[in-house]
Amino acid sequence: MSPSAVASVNKTDMASNLTEAGVKHTIKDTAPSIAVNGHSTGLQELDASKITFTPNENPKAVPEANSPEVTKMSSCTDHMITATWTSKTGWTAPSLIPYGPLALQPHASVLHYSTSCFEGMKFYRGHDLKIRLFRPSLNTVRMLNSSARISLPAFPPAELQKLIETLVAVEGEKWLPKSRPGSFMYLRPTMIGTAPTLSVNKPNEVLLYIIACCFPDFNDPAATLGAHANANNNESPNGNSETKPRPGLKLLASKEDTIRAWPGGFGFAKVGANYGPSLLASDEAHLRGFNQILWLFGPDSEITEAGASNFFLVWKTREGRTQLVTAPLGDGIILAGVTRRSVLELARERIGGEELEVVERKICMWELEEAVNEGRLMEAFAAGTAYFIMPISLIHYRGTDLHIPFADDNYGSKLKQWLMDIMYGAESHEWGVVVQERSLIPSDLDE
Ligand SMILES: *Cc1c(COP(=O)(O)O)cnc(C)c1O
Repeated sequence: MSPSAVASVNKTDMASNLTEAGVKHTIKDTAPSIAVNGHSTGLQELDASKITFTPNENPKAVPEANSPEVTKMSSCTDHMITATWTSKTGWTAPSLIPYGPLALQPHASVLHYSTSCFEGMKFYRGHDLKIRLFRPSLNTVRMLNSSARISLPAFPPAELQKLIETLVAVEGEKWLPKSRPGSFMYLRPTMIGTAPTLSVNKPNEVLLYIIACCFPDFNDPAATLGAHANANNNESPNGNSETKPRPGLKLLASKEDTIRAWPGGFGFAKVGANYGPSLLASDEAHLRGFNQILWLFGPDSEITEAGASNFFLVWKTREGRTQLVTAPLGDGIILAGVTRRSVLELARERIGGEELEVVERKICMWELEEAVNEGRLMEAFAAGTAYFIMPISLIHYRGTDLHIPFADDNYGSKLKQWLMDIMYGAESHEWGVVVQERSLIPSDLDE
């Protein structure tokens, strides 16, 4: 390549190519079955069919919905699934074992160098009493991409999905009882570098685990919106009374000295390193009465995400067209949410046309301010597994409160209802994956 060709490579392309090359390299080196160009390592592949079962002899009581244990997200189920990997052997047989503490050396890689990635998903007890996952293959593929970004080993996403389904199948009956249709629990597949060495290298020992936790329903008025939250009161964070109470998140825009993600970084990956450093800003937001940070990027204050959810707005253009808009994925600074993708797909398939243009494009704060001031903003919402679809009622940006409208017939609620119908089986749809439940009775232990 000539020097001029190098110089002409756009910075963003270069960053994503570097990341892409790294991801391919890691997958090739750690996962025989998904090796590129038939390259084989002789390592054991992750194999869900080899799982062993050890029942918990001291099972816990299931907490009441919206009890403190649930709202604090501190209560996990009786079991977890683990599998270890070493650079010499590959993956060991997975085990389903009693939930409990992990043994880690104080100099384990993850504790110093943030070699951790995870997924956030839910399983749902349908109104037809079946248990479903929502588009789980998108989570497992995303976890593969996240693990590669931090040099953790690859695995066939379908095997991870089988392990997730196994935990759900075992815990479902007790923890998401048929007496509670319309409820859900949260799943947290996690991978960490456990190698006991302070050398700053990719870990040669790794632990994969899957836990299931009680999780509050943020869309249920009886649940609080996190410890400090006040999303449903009618006081603005500055103490001015609004005329009528309105549901929705109150967001504090991030300041220029606090950036969540940048091109060439890792904002697109669900890696632990993205979250610890964000807590300073979100804690300030909570103390000031806001629910979340609205993460901005760059000199034009581009809106990227709302907390750990993707950001959407609906506005009328000056030409009078109605658009649903969210930030594009291209720069690698946006986490590609499963909810984001589902909202975009449903909006395009079921609304779209003349009624609603669906647009992925950069949104700058000045554009949002203009839309608010000219009365063109119709609604804004956050979309993600944890908060699901939550309307946004206020954005505080550089000393000003921007009040976000909320109409009863808003698009956010419509999309949310369609998604819920799929999650809870009111609509039969390929995105809702039914899990066959099983009990851990002794006959299962022979498998
Ligand atoms: C997990 C996450 C989301 C939402 O993704 P879903 O797959 O919809 O749950 C959005 N932004 C960030 C930063 C996240 O960590």
